[in-house]
Amino acid sequence: MSGTEPVPAGGTETSPAGGREPVPAAPTVGAEPVAAPVTVRALVARGVGAELRIERVRLPAPGPGEVRVTIRAAGVCHSDLSMVNGTIAARFPLVLGHEATGVVAEAGPGSRLRVGTEVVLNWAPACRACWWCRRGEPWLCADTTAPTVPRGETDDGVPLNLTLGLGALAEAVVVPETAVIPIPAGLPPEQAALLGCAVLTGVGAVRNTARVAPGETVAVVGLGGVGLAVLSAARRAGATTILAVDVAEAKRDLALAAGATDFLLSDDRLSKEVRARTEGRGVDHAFECVGRATTIRAAWRLTRRGGTVTVVGMGAKDDMVSLGALDIFHSARTLRSSVYGSSDPDREVPVLAAELAGGALDLGVLVSGTVPLDEAPVAFDRLARGEGARWVVTLD
Ligand SMILES: [Zn+2]
Ligand SMILES: [Zn+2]
Repeated sequence: MSGTEPVPAGGTETSPAGGREPVPAAPTVGAEPVAAPVTVRALVARGVGAELRIERVRLPAPGPGEVRVTIRAAGVCHSDLSMVNGTIAARFPLVLGHEATGVVAEAGPGSRLRVGTEVVLNWAPACRACWWCRRGEPWLCADTTAPTVPRGETDDGVPLNLTLGLGALAEAVVVPETAVIPIPAGLPPEQAALLGCAVLTGVGAVRNTARVAPGETVAVVGLGGVGLAVLSAARRAGATTILAVDVAEAKRDLALAAGATDFLLSDDRLSKEVRARTEGRGVDHAFECVGRATTIRAAWRLTRRGGTVTVVGMGAKDDMVSLGALDIFHSARTLRSSVYGSSDPDREVPVLAAELAGGALDLGVLVSGTVPLDEAPVAFDRLARGEGARWVVTLD
């Protein structure tokens, strides 16, 4: 959905001409040979607006501290779409996907992970050494270079870029072991995949960023995968009035199933409708899950004096939000963002996975359907049309 992912460094240009590099020879440790590169099928974007295709790509063998993960399920997130349509800068050719679950198939030298471990991928592995990591804010980790380094290559020998360092809409990925989080075996893969982006982001926005308390009132603007995850987390946090807002009437049933107490269409009566349900004040917390200036302003207007607006959606860098200086002072509202749910994925994904295993967390409503890898482009079309919640590619 409207992800909260950082913009990868670099421009929108495709890989530079002459950027071909030979496939490195299979690494060896002493005299002991380790595994060779593997060829897998992956969903590849060749440029902004280009038709998405399943291509054969070559992944390197996992090096020291790396693992190869066989993907079982991967969600189609709005941030992938934003790279394909040019809203977020990306380098091409690009393997899409960053929200996935799978099984460790091969561990590089020195890896602590065992083959066969079920995992969720983490698109923001923390370095644990920078200023932000040391002060307990790993979601703001300063070590953001790794996701932008090309890895592997296409069948015609062009270096591959991987969405957020993962490229998870593929039969397998090779990633640092810091980018995988073990989960209990046996979770439904199409639901477990969502823990790595939409659910961690949505639940974290409610629990960690806004810290919604029992009895509070909430509005959620934008009902993609993350918005729906915010709704259900707000319900579980004990919010009593949970207003779901979207431009599409078709989201009504989904919103109510996810935990909303009311569904409101985003039109010129919205502020009035919200105030009618909050004793004239506006909500304690508004969550913006689209990533646009107009919806951030809408969320701002729905919030009571002294309330909090949490921006979860990632927008374009030239989409400017305008607020009145007097309004900022007089409303006493707080405007903040929630990057990756202000969460530590290594700590919080296992908690969410345990909740999913125990039935406290039900992600069924978030999964609109599953498609095989060959039909992943169809899932992107559905996402672009705003159909359903989350479409998940399954590879079992
Ligand atoms: Zn995402
Ligand atoms: Zn760090």
